[in-house]
Amino acid sequence: MVTMFEAGKPFFKGNLHMHTTNTDGRLSPEDAIQRYADAGYDFICITDHWKRTTVPDYSGRMLVLPGIELDYFLASQVIHIIGINVDESILDTADRKWGPQRGIDAILAAGGLPVLAHPAWSLNTTETIASLMRLTAVEIFNGVSRPPWNGDRADSTCLLDIAAANGTVHNTIAVDDAHHYNGDECHSFIRIQANELTPEDVTDALKRGAYYATQGPELIQVSFDGDTVRVDCAPARRVLFHSNRPYAADRCWEGEGITHAAYQVRRDWCESFVRVIVEDENGLRAWANPITIPY
Ligand SMILES: [Zn+2]
Ligand SMILES: [Zn+2]
Repeated sequence: MVTMFEAGKPFFKGNLHMHTTNTDGRLSPEDAIQRYADAGYDFICITDHWKRTTVPDYSGRMLVLPGIELDYFLASQVIHIIGINVDESILDTADRKWGPQRGIDAILAAGGLPVLAHPAWSLNTTETIASLMRLTAVEIFNGVSRPPWNGDRADSTCLLDIAAANGTVHNTIAVDDAHHYNGDECHSFIRIQANELTPEDVTDALKRGAYYATQGPELIQVSFDGDTVRVDCAPARRVLFHSNRPYAADRCWEGEGITHAAYQVRRDWCESFVRVIVEDENGLRAWANPITIPY
């Protein structure tokens, strides 16, 4: 029996991708922290472009992780990698000329967690996603990559389904990638189950996949007993079960106040992963990390 969450363990709310006036964000680091603290966040990671922003004088209750965003240019796509909780060695070891895999390796060497940012916005191919080794997670939703800010490719679900159907299955986060602070902040986040609100516990939970991505809808439990994937959630309008099987008659649950849904896995159809998506009455979504079906 696989269960994604531990009953009774607290969830902490956080945004792992945002910018400040240290690069191209419109709020100072101090004001950005305050904006998220006022909105009830427990932790954030500031990920300025090729800069490691820290706020040593901050003494509030929110956990502020130092991060960075590295970007690389290919002929028909870009690759952006955020590094969560990196130490200052990243500034000496990451260099655009060495390419994205060396950037991922530099983030890991700096004690951080590498995450592929906004793959749909970047026009990444599934081959590109498969070629990047040792990623901790991929952004399934990047808030600023939608109107009115930057086109309409915020949602990478379809791309990540194709990647997963071809064998590259990643855990997924939702982020704001806040730049403008006129509505692109405090919208898309993760809820993470950790013992305490410390860098060690939060990064450990990120590595273990003890979290889900959301714009608001709450997941209570996702489980797999070897035959059926089940989800318990706060009242929802839709529950969707995505997998590598293009057609399944029973993959859309729709109704008023759904709090439980189930999906029977078909091993005879070589179903290899299941991704649960929950949607509330306002169209806001939550994405569980994919469950890999063992054979
Ligand atoms: Zn980016
Ligand atoms: Zn960014």
